[in-house]
Amino acid sequence: MAWDPYLNAGRALASICSHFEPQHRDSGLNTMDFLQRIVDCLGSPTFPWKGLMLGLSVGKFMFESFITLRQCRVLCKPKPPTVLSKAVTQETFANTQKYGLAKAHFTLASGLWYTAIQYLYLRHDILSKFWQVSGDLLLRWAPARCAGPLVQSGLFSIIYLFFNIAESMPPQLYYTFVLEQKFGFNKQSLGGFVSDQVKTFFISSAIFAVGAAGFSYIMDKAGDRFATYLGLGAFALRALVMTVYPVFILPLFYKLSPLQGKELRDHITGLATKLSFPLTKLYVADGSSRSTHSNAIFFGFPWQKNILIFDTLIQEMDSREVTAVVAHELGHWKLGHTAYLFALQQFDLIYSFGLFSLVHDNPHFYSTFGFGKGEQPAIAGFLLFCQVLSPLASAHKLVTNILSRRYEYQADAFAKTLGFKAELSTALVKLNKNNLSTIDADSIYSSYHHSHPLLAERLAELD
Ligand SMILES: [Zn+2]
Repeated sequence: MAWDPYLNAGRALASICSHFEPQHRDSGLNTMDFLQRIVDCLGSPTFPWKGLMLGLSVGKFMFESFITLRQCRVLCKPKPPTVLSKAVTQETFANTQKYGLAKAHFTLASGLWYTAIQYLYLRHDILSKFWQVSGDLLLRWAPARCAGPLVQSGLFSIIYLFFNIAESMPPQLYYTFVLEQKFGFNKQSLGGFVSDQVKTFFISSAIFAVGAAGFSYIMDKAGDRFATYLGLGAFALRALVMTVYPVFILPLFYKLSPLQGKELRDHITGLATKLSFPLTKLYVADGSSRSTHSNAIFFGFPWQKNILIFDTLIQEMDSREVTAVVAHELGHWKLGHTAYLFALQQFDLIYSFGLFSLVHDNPHFYSTFGFGKGEQPAIAGFLLFCQVLSPLASAHKLVTNILSRRYEYQADAFAKTLGFKAELSTALVKLNKNNLSTIDADSIYSSYHHSHPLLAERLAELD
């Protein structure tokens, strides 16, 4: 019989409902019993994991396509919102709409591409094949003392990453060399693009391999408390990556040099001193070598921080406007936004690890995806289980974006209290114009996708 994704998805949902329904009616049921019954239900050999995952994947694609189509309607409007009629010219607005529409069409097509790939992964048990290949490679090439589940988990994660990068190549090539090229943003050659991908692969492989081996080690040693230890391990790895990224990884992609302009340097160091920001170094990155999109970031240890400004920002704005953008960034630091968002992501990881305990030692879960008898690699199980959690990931994205938009308003208000209201307003208009950022948006699309408020909303709040 043909493997019908929709039928299987429907069966999965029906199965979940039929398993849960009696429990809800049982007034004497305590929480532990309820959880145990969930585990029993999930452990059933007939539980349709593949159908459930595919149903969720198709459901997510349909939901995201629906809101993108709503956004396409807004992107066809011929005139900007009245509040922006003075700040934005008709020409800029028309270009912004065209760019937004091209990106929306790209989102629809790439969404279909990734959903199709996910279908193939599930249909052909690709993760179990990656696991077998990693085992075979170790058996053939590695010394016997290196073989074992930890090394195999590391190698498995590298193979998984390699295919992930390879699958993203067609959409990425189109995005960079057709879409971004058409609107004048791309400044990268094909050679530079390939070189970036190779570097990304090697750096990510190192992080993935360490993460996967650590994951397997904790799963093996920590017993029932694995979620807590995984949370601690993830915290340590994320903190390490955040620390080394700007120092060792960013310079592999961008040329960093000390900021030269004396006036701008004086403005920014003066601002840092005023706010007790522990500024150590002030860099300029040659962002223009890749793209004309502009940005400014800060990074480093809590006691020793650096500010990095993309040269595109300096080329587009005067020194007071660049300082206003930096004042906004320092607002994020002073108000602790980075730490709050980090904590929210950490929370997301911890509950994912906690929920993984529902299936981590369930042999049927693994056998459904083609793993042999007694073969239960935790890292592969977790990657598969993350697909079941995709609705929670979407909810997490929504919450993060709501929070992030609120933080943007707060950072704008912070820059305003420092006397940069006018400069920040003109800087935001220039940034919007030069990046062709969306000017108008559908409310549902904006709530779900946008980490920053729209230009009109920010300008109105600054007034
Ligand atoms: Zn911001």
